[in-house]
Order: sequence, then structure tokens, then C-alpha cells
Amino acid sequence: MPDIIQLLPDSVANQIAAGEVIQRPASVVKELVENSIDAGATTVTINIKDSGRTLIQVIDNGKGMSPTDARMSFERHATSKIREANDLFAIRTMGFRGEALASIAGVADVEVRTRLHGEELGTYIHILGSAIQKQEADHCAEGTNFSVKNIFFNIPARRKFLKSNSSELKYIITEVQRIALANPELAISLYHNNSVIYNLPSENVRKRIVSLFSRTMNQNLIPVDTTTSVINISGFIGQPKFAKKSMGEQFFFVNGRFMKHPFFNRAVQQAYDRLLPAETFPSYFLYFEVDPATIDINIHPTKTEIKFEDERTAWHMIQASLREAMGKFNLMPSIDFDQSGAIDIPISPVHGLNIPEPEIKANRYFNPFEQGSGADRDYAKTTSPRDEQNLDNWQALYKGFERAGDLDGQVPADHSIIPDEIGQEAVQQTFTNNDLPVIENQNFLQFKNKYILTPVKSGLMVIDQRRAHERILFENFLRTIDNHLAISQRQLFPAQLELNAVDKEILIVLGEDLKSLGFEIRQGDNDTFFVDGIPASLSHLNPSDLVEKLIGDFKNRPVDVKEEIKEHLALLLSQSAAINYGVSLKQEEISELFNSLFACKTPNYSPSGKMVVSIVSFQDFEKLLS
Ligand code: ADP
Ligand code: MG
Repeated sequence: MPDIIQLLPDSVANQIAAGEVIQRPASVVKELVENSIDAGATTVTINIKDSGRTLIQVIDNGKGMSPTDARMSFERHATSKIREANDLFAIRTMGFRGEALASIAGVADVEVRTRLHGEELGTYIHILGSAIQKQEADHCAEGTNFSVKNIFFNIPARRKFLKSNSSELKYIITEVQRIALANPELAISLYHNNSVIYNLPSENVRKRIVSLFSRTMNQNLIPVDTTTSVINISGFIGQPKFAKKSMGEQFFFVNGRFMKHPFFNRAVQQAYDRLLPAETFPSYFLYFEVDPATIDINIHPTKTEIKFEDERTAWHMIQASLREAMGKFNLMPSIDFDQSGAIDIPISPVHGLNIPEPEIKANRYFNPFEQGSGADRDYAKTTSPRDEQNLDNWQALYKGFERAGDLDGQVPADHSIIPDEIGQEAVQQTFTNNDLPVIENQNFLQFKNKYILTPVKSGLMVIDQRRAHERILFENFLRTIDNHLAISQRQLFPAQLELNAVDKEILIVLGEDLKSLGFEIRQGDNDTFFVDGIPASLSHLNPSDLVEKLIGDFKNRPVDVKEEIKEHLALLLSQSAAINYGVSLKQEEISELFNSLFACKTPNYSPSGKMVVSIVSFQDFEKLLS
């Protein structure tokens, strides 16, 4: 039998390669503009006709090519950017595969005019379906000018599968947005059928975001800036209240390259600490700088998927960085009180100054839901909370949180640092151990046993009592888990549970955190488990119901990220234990609730992202009666 294996001609090989690199006109735009950036261009102009079907032209003022390089550039694996395998670990350029031009030339009618800086004459090359048609000297401008016409002219099936003009144009705009955001210092314009879509000067990141999206975006942006030894994170995130119902503007860049990263996307979502209303997505524009040796950009031909060597560390850095950024902006309620001297935030622009003692105190452990001591409590009665509302003992009622709280008291809350961005002096609010904020003489009105109303400087503050309590409990639970200092309430008669294999797995994953919270769960024979103790702060709830609910809720969630598990547990528990609507509260209970709320890191939103606090402005009142 004769040998049957043959090498494919270059033109066919190029068409096959093009299938990966060049999927549509937008891919051509991306590859050409990235080449311009690699060539050191400071200005790039993109002209598109018929959504790229007829023409894609990219003109740059980069360094240009010599006649030989211009010819070589269309060869497969011809690149000026890497020379040996080791260079792959230090990539700083956008391109490195040397595939793009060969692929483009394989599937379109391509002309290039290019002139090296300082050279008198440039080069013109016409190449059609990988075959050179013409090469000659040319009086062109310095830099490079590529025209790609009739994409997929020789692959009718591909051409037919292009989407509608408006979809293809949308893809092009998306690519240009990514490149423009990754390179704000690059002046870039995009024209479609001779009308201008973008004409952006060289500018900073913030201005670039505003130019690309909208002017209103400007007030929405929270700056992020963290430098660590493994990763630098900068850029902007959107304020939670501007989150969109549809996937908003979400951009990650690593070393100047746009990337998709679902895992980090979850880190961002999480960092919002459930501040987001359900089903909404925050905007973000986050720029990571890392040692190129710690990432692998070679895993996908279009290079938008990037592998990080240590994703978990990066995940934590991202979260910490975003939380810090958000903490700085989470100020509204704490600077709005009217009580003179009541919630006076001591201002100290200089660190280390003797800061006057704050006149505010809070009991973070207040739990209006619990009553009396453990002994006289019975479940049936306390699960339907409080009918006689006898809460004389309320101070003791954040029982189960005291120890974790003591420890926490040593850490000053950082949510009171007002960033320079909004034009205020840096303000540092410090609490000493037992000096948590308490407002004396603030007037409260409980309205419909659901809302708490209280006057503040700019109007009337409205607080949702249940959501406020969820927030307080949520932060308490998180602290408890972190500090492993829970107080467990031993059960006289351990509750018994039968768990199937899946449930058991979940229980094992949750085990450590449950223990930190004060759950004591032990395996008996086979599938039987005993709940010997539950967190003291939840002792009014039915232990087996509680554990079953937790397991049930984790069934449909990914449980691979430690932080997520922790937060979700804290969320579920806070929802189970929070005081309900319809419960009437005494003045001192309200005042405790209020102070504990504003001792929270994030008082404005409930752990599931609903608004806790709102202010009806003074002007609104005036309008009412005008
Ligand atoms: P890669 O970018 O991966 O190196 P390409 O096929 O995109 O591969 O480009 C091949 C080579 O052509 C590049 O390495 C570069 O030397 C040269 N080149 C392409 N576009 C330009 C340009 N706009 N200006 C200068 N040189 C260019
Ligand atoms: Mg390239």
C-alpha cells in the first residue's frame, strides 16, 4: 500500500490556523491593533466598512517594517517577539505566536504599506489567499497601514456564517473597548462606514472609562489600588447601587491584556459582600500586574483565557483589595447624624496623634431576639419570636458572640476612612476596646413594627429592622468563624439526623466552619449524626432543622472556595436568627440595634444585598407640603 501522509500546502495550513485565530472581522481588528501596540504606536485609526466584511483598515504610527520584515511577517510562525522557548515565560508583548498575519493573509485580500522611522521609502505588499501578488517600494507614511478586504472570500462557508452586520459590528466595538481600556494612553479612533464611533485621545484610565461608556459612570467609580509582592491591583469598581440587571461592564486586564476569568469574577462578586441587589452585576475595570512567569497566556489561541500559577492567593488579594476600596466608600450613614457631638468622628489627618475618645458606644452583641437565660427557654415559644416582649435582659443577649467580639474590639473599624477622591480629608475613626459607638439621646420611632425612623442631619433616616439585624448577625457570625471563639450551647438531648452520602459530603466540607461557629456534630453509626451543641446565639432554633437547612442550602452551591462557604454560612444563620417584622421593640432595644448596625463594616446593605438604610431628605419633606 502506498504511503498516504502528505504535508499540507502552506495556503491550506494557513486557512486551518485561521479557523482558530480569525473567527470573525473583530478578530482581525484585535490582531492588527495589538500588532500596532507591540510596534510602539501611540496613535491607531481603525476604518471599518460593512461591519468588516468589505474592509478592515488599521493605521498606526508605530516603528514600521523593513521590506524583508514586511514580507516575512506573513509567514507562519514568523515573529520578532520571541526567539526561544524561555521567552514564553517573560512575554510583555501582545503577540508572540507569529500566526495572525499568516492567518489573515490566508483568508482575505490584504495590502500593507509600511515605512520604518527615518527611512525615506516604505514598502507596499499585496497578498491574496497566502499568495504574494505584488511587492514594491512605496511613498507611504511612517508606521504601518494594513487593509484587509473581503474576509473569508475563499471560504464561503465561513463568510456565510458571519452574523448580522449589527452583531459583527458589536463584536468589533467590544474588541476596541477592551484594547482601549487596556491602553488608555493610546489615542484610538474607530470609524464605521465613515462615521465616527470612537475618537479617543491619550488619557488616564478613569477618563477612558468615562469616554467609552458614559459621563454618569464617573460618579459610580470607586478607585482600587493595592500593591503586594505577588500582584498589583488597580483600576475601578462600580458602586453597588449602580449594579446592572444585565452583565455590566466587567473587565479584567493582566499585564495590559484583556482576560476572561470566571474564578476571579466570583471573587469580585463576593467582595461586594452581598451588597448587590439580587440578580445584578457590578461594573469593574481591574488591572492586574504580575510577574509574566507566573501566568500562562499560551493556553488559548485568542489569548483571552489566562492561567495563574497561584489562583487562590490572587483570589484573596483581589477580595482584600476590593473590600478595602469599598470600605473607604461606605460612609453615607456614619457621617450624616444630626446629634451634635453624638457621633462625632474624631478627625486626625496625622497618624499617631492623641485622638479624643469617641462619644459613641455600641453593643455589638445585642440580640433583641433572645430572652432570658438559656434555662427558661423553650423552643416552641421562642421560635415564634417574642410575644410578651420582655427583654429586660437584652444586654446579655448577644451571648455567644462576646468572646469573638472582645477580640474584634482591638481592631479599629476601617470603614470610616474617607477617601481623598471625594474631596474630604482623611478621617480616621478609632474605637478602643470597649468604646464602641453609642448614641445618647437619639430619638427613635418604630413604625408599623417594621421600620425604625430617626432624624439625621439631612432628613429622616429609615431603617429596616429585620435587615439591620441580619447585617449585625452576619458580621458577628463571620467574626466568630474567623476567630474560632464561638460559644456552644450544649443540647441536653442531642438532636439526631439521618444523612445520605451527598449530605455527608457537604457536612464534611462545612465541618470546620460549623465547629468554629459553635456547632458540635458527631457521627454515630453509619448515616446517623448527632447534634450535641449549636451556637449559643442560635439556641432558640431547632438544632436538627437548622443543620438540615444548612446542608440543603449548600447542595446547589459550589463549595470549593473557603471564603464563600464561610460567608454563605454566616448569611444563612443570620437569616434564620434575625428578628422578624411585626416585633415591637423598646427604645433601648432600638438604640442597641441602631448602634450595633453602625458599628458594622457595611451597615447600608443586608447580607443578601438589600438596602437597610435610606434617608428621606429634608427637601422631600418640604416638597410634600409645598
Ligand atoms: P506576532 O504578533 O505574534 O509576532 P503577527 O503575525 O501578528 O505575529 O505579526 C508578525 C510580525 O510582523 C510581528 O512579530 C512584527 O514583527 C511584524 N508586525 C506586524 N504588524 C506590525 C505593525 N503594525 N508594525 C510593525 N511590525 C509589525
Ligand atoms: Mg500579532
